[in-house]
This record gives sequence, C-alpha cells and structure tokens, in this order.
Amino acid sequence: MDIFEKCLNFKDAQKARDEGWYPYFIPITENKDGRAVVNGVERIMIGSNNYLGLTYHPKVLEAAKQAVDKYGSGCTGSRFLNGTLDAHIELEKRLAEFTRKEGALVYSTGYQTNLGVISTLVGKGDYAIMDKLNHASIVDGGLLSFGEIVRFRHNDMQDLDRVLSKLEDDAGKLIIVDGIFSMEGDIAPLPDIIEIARKYDARVMVDDAHSIGVLGDHGRGTAEHWGVEDDVDLIMGTFSKSFASVGGFIAGQKEVIDYLQHISRSMIFSASLPPSAVATVLAALEIIQAEPERREHLWEIAHYMMDGYRKLGFDIGGTETPVIPVIIGDNMKTFLFWRALYEDGVYSNPVVSPAVPEKSSRLRTSYMASHTFEQMDTVLEKFEYHGKKFGLIS
Ligand code: PMP
Repeated sequence: MDIFEKCLNFKDAQKARDEGWYPYFIPITENKDGRAVVNGVERIMIGSNNYLGLTYHPKVLEAAKQAVDKYGSGCTGSRFLNGTLDAHIELEKRLAEFTRKEGALVYSTGYQTNLGVISTLVGKGDYAIMDKLNHASIVDGGLLSFGEIVRFRHNDMQDLDRVLSKLEDDAGKLIIVDGIFSMEGDIAPLPDIIEIARKYDARVMVDDAHSIGVLGDHGRGTAEHWGVEDDVDLIMGTFSKSFASVGGFIAGQKEVIDYLQHISRSMIFSASLPPSAVATVLAALEIIQAEPERREHLWEIAHYMMDGYRKLGFDIGGTETPVIPVIIGDNMKTFLFWRALYEDGVYSNPVVSPAVPEKSSRLRTSYMASHTFEQMDTVLEKFEYHGKKFGLIS
C-alpha cells in the first residue's frame, strides 16, 4: 500500500477549483483599512481577526522596523538556549502586568502555546476538561498529553458539573475554554465555570485569542469582562489577532510559568518569536491601553452588524461579540453564498465541518476598529440582496 494513496485520491480541492468556488488560500496583495485587494480588485474585508486594526498603526510599524535594525531578522534558535532576547523578557513582564498575573511566557504561535501548555500540565491520570466547541489547538494539546480529554456541551454548566462529578476526586483537572468562541462569537460564562471548578478542585484556563484587546473595560480579556481576573488560573492569548502579529503567551502563577518554561516542548524545541514580532506586540500592547477609542469603535461596529443581520432575518446564533457567524447549514449553499458575496466585493470566510458541527456551515464574519459604518452599510446591502436570492432571508 502506497502511503501517498490518500493524497492521490484526494480530489475535493481540485473539484472545487474546477467548479470555480474554491475559497481557500486566496493570495491577498493588500489588506488595509477594512479592505482586501485580490487580483487588483478591492473587497470589503469582514474575514480578518485584526480586531483593533493595528497592523498598519504607525507606532507598530516603527517599532517593528527599529527591532529589525537593532536585533536583525530572526533569533535562529530556541528560547531555551540561544533565542531569548531582552525584548522577550520585557514583553513577558508587560504581559504579566497587563493580565495581572505573576508571570507570563511567550511562545512562537498561539497554536504552540495551547499545545505546549496543555500537554505539559495534563499528565498521566489527569484530565483536560473542555467545551465541545473549543479551538482545535486546545483539543490537540489534550491529544498530545498523557492525560485524558473529557468534553462538556457548549457553555452548558450542568453538563460541566456532570462531567466533573464522574472523575476521581484526587485526579488533576484542568478546565479549558475559549473566552470568545472563535466560530460562535459567544462568551464563556467564567464565573459559573470558576464556581464549579472550585467544587471539584479543578484549575481553569481561558483561551483569550479573540478576547484580548476586545473584552473588558481595558481590553484585558474575558476574565476582566466578568470581573474574575484573580480567579482564573491561566490566561492564554495569541498575538495573531488584536496584537497584529504572530505568536502566543500564557500567563499565571510564577511556579507554573517556570515549570512550563523548562518542560513544555513546543517552546523548547522551536525557534523563538522573531524580534519584529516581539516589538510589534510590545507596541500593540501600549496602544491597547492608550487608545480605548479603538475598542469602543469596534464594539459600535459589532453591535451595528449584529442588529443589521438580525433585522434582515439572518441566523447569527448566540453571538455577543465582533465575531458574527451567519449560519447557513448546508455546505454547498455556504460555498455558493460565499462566492456570490466575494464576487460582489465582500471578503468573508466560509466555515464547514469539522471546524463547526455538521449541518451548521456558516460564513464567519468578524469586525475591526478600522471599519467604517459606510463599509458596513454596503456589506449589509449585499447580504440582503444575495441572502434573498439564496432564500436565506425573505
Ligand atoms: N486559540 C483560538 C481560540 C484561536 O482561534 C486560534 C487561531 N485562530 C488559536 C488559538 C491559535 O492561534 P495562532 O493562530 O496565533 O497560532
């Protein structure tokens, strides 16, 4: 049996290309001010995670340029041996202060952060307890661990209690949830999760990939949003969204950070975050704190779009944030609806199973501080026009 047989038999992508609706790996030539240019054609971008619109902020660009001049293009090694810059240490100090934790540790991607943290903490006989709609990187962290994964129904606290009640009292338990769920846009009920965690002696980790810079009066994320910063054990974040770069971090109690720093393989056996990214994140962190008007505008835009879609009659599920899914159900209809909007100048993201449950295919839309209300009106007009044509709304 040829190990490549599965590849030779994989025809789905080519079929989609041949039929003209292949929606992935689109080469964008410019992505700025709420617009994306593809093949010289401009589209309104509602498929980016650049929530605060910082990727072209002059202070961010200047910081990245200065870091390249000072430290060069890359660290060419792991944090562990030769890839730690003073700038990494400074960033970790600032992230710990920002998240109000004792320490923080930076990884080279958000994905690696979840992989490294969860697989290191959840050992033999321990449990990773996760919401069924958690991000793939959390699931993969659990799969890579020597412990066991148990899952509870999405945001269902009775089910979380039920699941925990079945585990051995003396087993180590880590509950992990997305803060803002990446495909739903709803928020994890942290106060309830914390209360249940206490009952069963479990620790709580929140993945704030989509929440840092977005949730909370100061943009500190889901724990700030709920007023439970002291009660969440671990806050994980990515730099690939509001921080306008790439990378990730975990923040928590200093002994846990020290342990992860010396044991977690996805950090030790991978090269460190490049200087330009470190500087970008440091600059973005300052802007998140100094320019709250960005977050305020983002929320105005998000509410405007939630109201707009709901008034038009679209199913946007239980979203409460700038992540707004437009739920369609059928895979093919999702791709064709996506294409109609794309050809009409709107760039969104089609998402089908396994990224979301079967029969809940959707366009994932997300909003940015760099969007204008005028752009949003155009988007809503186009959704209305094509939504009616596709029979999604009447
Ligand atoms: N967690 C969540 C909830 C995410 O949505 C993502 C990426 N979309 C990640 C982790 C991984 O982060 P990164 O892309 O920075 O590796």
